[in-house]
Amino acid sequence: MMIDLRGRVAIVTGAGGGLGRAHALALATRGAKVVVNDLGGARDGRGGAITAAQSVVAEIEAAGGEAIANGASVTDFAAVEAMVAEAKAKWGRVDILVNNAGILRDRTFAKMELDDFRAVLDVHLMGSVNCTKAVWDIMREQAYGRIVMTTSSSGLYGNFGQAHYGAAKLALVGLMNTLGLEGARYNVRVNCLSPSAATRMTEDVLSPELLELMAPASVAVGVVALASEDAPNRVVLCAGAGTFERAYVTLTQGVFIGAGADAPEKLLAQFDRVSDRDGEWLPNDGPMQAQAEVAAAQKALAA
Ligand code: NAD
Repeated sequence: MMIDLRGRVAIVTGAGGGLGRAHALALATRGAKVVVNDLGGARDGRGGAITAAQSVVAEIEAAGGEAIANGASVTDFAAVEAMVAEAKAKWGRVDILVNNAGILRDRTFAKMELDDFRAVLDVHLMGSVNCTKAVWDIMREQAYGRIVMTTSSSGLYGNFGQAHYGAAKLALVGLMNTLGLEGARYNVRVNCLSPSAATRMTEDVLSPELLELMAPASVAVGVVALASEDAPNRVVLCAGAGTFERAYVTLTQGVFIGAGADAPEKLLAQFDRVSDRDGEWLPNDGPMQAQAEVAAAQKALAA
């Protein structure tokens, strides 16, 4: 089964370089028309020029594809709406959104300014919210949409010096969990990609051999799959060096402790049982977790 994106219209944010460029090129290779969005700023998000996006458009056109450049900041909702309107006016629809734009301002939490925290949240979280909000009604109305959020191992598992970044990245998993539920009946599927790739974001921390193995194109494979008609829904797909894994937020079976006067001591005493991963499972939504707790309590009390 060949993934054919001809007739599909994609928006890739932060596509002037790094992973976004690889995503845009990979989608265009499969026939999608692509809006190459990029503010063109430095790694920390400062400055900007549309030339980065324009050069990726030129690459796509040179390979026989169709693309337009857009210099909107994903943090500016009016500019994002104008970008989506331009794509709709030119190509009639928007089928695929890859929320990829991002910045880094690494520091330990002790040294981090709250303004840096807000800036990182604004680009990663609100940038993805703005772009998703701007395409949401279009996708619902056309009963087709594929949205990819870019999460990170720093959010899923933590990383020294990235408190703001990790918080923003895991927030995108939360956003996906609910949007995937709300979009499903309109054939709008929402997934997260957790990439590991050699880009300017990681150039300081990887050896030359690893830089080669971890080319962004190996991660773009995941984006093409998640942008396709047969995409899953509500999946966290990890991708790096051509290797793909799936991350889950699972739940242990748990233990009924109750709320008696000595319950905190009992809880600590039984922490190994609370943590026991034997029989762990995946609730489909939040309320299902609460229902499971009530059911376990009722069972324990009836025994
Ligand atoms: P990158 O810095 O090369 O690319 C990010 C792009 O986003 C840049 O071209 C930048 O100009 C653009 N951008 C920044 N702020 C923007 C804004 N407000 N509006 C529009 N565009 C904006 O970095 P990358 O490694 O290619 O990262 C791409 C995404 O993947 C980011 O979300 C990043 O957090 C995520 N990620 C990367 C890695 C990795 O290993 N490289 C790991 C985990 C997550």
